[in-house]
Amino acid sequence: MSCAIDCLEPGRLQADLWQATYSLVGADYVRAVAVWLAEHLATQQVLITRAIDSPATRARIVSSVPEDACANNSIVLAGRPCEVVYQKHRPMAQASDLPSAFPLLRDLCCDSFYGYPLLNAQGQCTGHVALFFRDSTALPAWFDAWFAPVAARLDAELCRLEEQSRLDAAEHQLALYNRVLRLTTQHAPLKQVLDTLLAGIESIWPGALCSIMAPDGNGSRLRLLSAPSLPSEYLSAIDDVAIGPDIGACGAAAFSRQRVIITDTLTHPSWVALRELTARFGLSSCWSQPILNGEQVLGVFAIYHHAPCVPGADDFAMIDRVSDLACQVLLHHEAMEALRLKSEHYQLLLRHGADGTVVLDRAGRFLEISEGFLKQIGATDVDAVMRTHIGDWVANLEQSDIVKILHGHRGQPLIFQTAMRHVDGSLWDAEITSTEVEIDGQALIWASARDITERKQLEAALLREARLDSLTGIANRGNFLQALAKELTRARRYPAPLAVLMLDLDHFKGINDRYGHSTGDDVLRTLCRESAPLLRKEDLMGRLGGEEFAVMLPQTTLAEAGEVAQRLLLRILDMAVPVADHHHAIHFSCSIGVAALTPNDKDGEALLMRADKALYQAKAAGRGCVRAG
Ligand code: GH3
Ligand code: MG
Ligand code: MG
Repeated sequence: MSCAIDCLEPGRLQADLWQATYSLVGADYVRAVAVWLAEHLATQQVLITRAIDSPATRARIVSSVPEDACANNSIVLAGRPCEVVYQKHRPMAQASDLPSAFPLLRDLCCDSFYGYPLLNAQGQCTGHVALFFRDSTALPAWFDAWFAPVAARLDAELCRLEEQSRLDAAEHQLALYNRVLRLTTQHAPLKQVLDTLLAGIESIWPGALCSIMAPDGNGSRLRLLSAPSLPSEYLSAIDDVAIGPDIGACGAAAFSRQRVIITDTLTHPSWVALRELTARFGLSSCWSQPILNGEQVLGVFAIYHHAPCVPGADDFAMIDRVSDLACQVLLHHEAMEALRLKSEHYQLLLRHGADGTVVLDRAGRFLEISEGFLKQIGATDVDAVMRTHIGDWVANLEQSDIVKILHGHRGQPLIFQTAMRHVDGSLWDAEITSTEVEIDGQALIWASARDITERKQLEAALLREARLDSLTGIANRGNFLQALAKELTRARRYPAPLAVLMLDLDHFKGINDRYGHSTGDDVLRTLCRESAPLLRKEDLMGRLGGEEFAVMLPQTTLAEAGEVAQRLLLRILDMAVPVADHHHAIHFSCSIGVAALTPNDKDGEALLMRADKALYQAKAAGRGCVRAG
């Protein structure tokens, strides 16, 4: 039923309203009043709202008739708190310029408006009844007084509803936070977690459009992480915004580490660059809260509204709660990312390091094997190697010994060399670095193996070069003298006999001259090679220089040494060196001087000198003979 406004009769209306609402409470009562007002006053629109903040500058629509009047759940009042506008017992009546006062209600096409604030006992506005008329309708003078008890009842019902909705919102928030934490612990992508958080928050925070941005790697710009409801064109404009003072709200909040509230983007000096864009999308206010972990800025949480507005106490509480949760989410993500990167770096090391790397349990069983190690042992089947024991690959140590060694010494890394086995059983030399590490309270062994086979070969060659004569492969002068000095000490200590032979080829110059220097070399090599079988393991033959040799004979008396010399001479006379162009082999002889250690010999050199003297005598005696000194 609808009546022309001028034929309304207060008494009848009161009875009618009473009839329509007496049995109803809470939301049903509020809704029934809105429907009744729409019908009986022939309004274009009835809105019953609840103030979001106090003093009220924003209000949430609790009931709307018709229902689809305002898609957005919150409206912003004319920019001034209602208490300022409100005059006792007078509605906030406005007959014209509604669009500028209520930008969100532009589509209503109304000419007149009556706004009745709902006041609590302290005279604060807690909500509104707003009546919109298509033409310039004037309500009768008695209407304000008639409406006062209805407004009081509405306020009481809204209070009750609010209590309920507070509980609902708390429950809703708790469920949302649980969902966000669950996603976080399930390692869902960061964007999904933050989108869930912000979309959930927007659904319980009337009119709020949220975003979270985070500083880039060097902390100079902000990257967008999540903004489920803001227009994409606006987001592309603010993504990668610089961090600095006076740069919008987010850039400034990240810079100052302080909350930045821009209540009106149209007039704020920091917003000049974005003014045109935000005006186009109707983003009229922006509050930015830095998400801090101590001094570190993890991100910026921003809340936009479609109308200029100031945050109230509830808003601040919400901002703090969301920032705290976002902080936990971002910290968790940061830790997870660092862990992922670390593990990828380790994988890279394991995969591409030239050294072979393994992780073993305390008993020496494989837990990780790098590709480098597989290559070193010549294996391709990692699973097969995983089933073996490190001891299977170490050639010269018992399994229990190698495990003991690998544990290192009190957490100190240990470096040692060992022979290792290839899968085909052949050996390679390794330098192992190992240390005991503790992961999750479990003691493990980390070991890396460097293939030093080539190095060892080189070392051996260098050592040989330093100790051996390069032409004949026997001990060089230095090596021989050193060995003789050592043997002499031993002989004196026991005491034991010790003898030396000095040996010089006869007319060797003639061989060189006649057959060439390389044949001369062949003679020297043949002499050394073929003399060796006549000597004992403990004897040592050395080349003292040119075609002069010495033989050390431990535990040998002068007489025995003389016999050795004779045997050696006979064998030498028997030696033959083939000469390519001469169709025959050449023979050669030598002279040998023998001397045995006496207490008068000061050192090895003195002993050798006496043998050399004997050699000189052999030469003098016509060569090809032995003389003892
Ligand atoms: P003698 O019987 O008196 O010992 O006469 P000899 O010719 O052996 O003695 P001499 O000391 O006059 O000559 C030694 C020669 O040995 C001179 C040198 O050219 C030769 N000679 C020294 N070292 C080498 C070598 O490494 N290779 C060759 N082919 N000849 C060498
Ligand atoms: Mg000589
Ligand atoms: Mg000679």
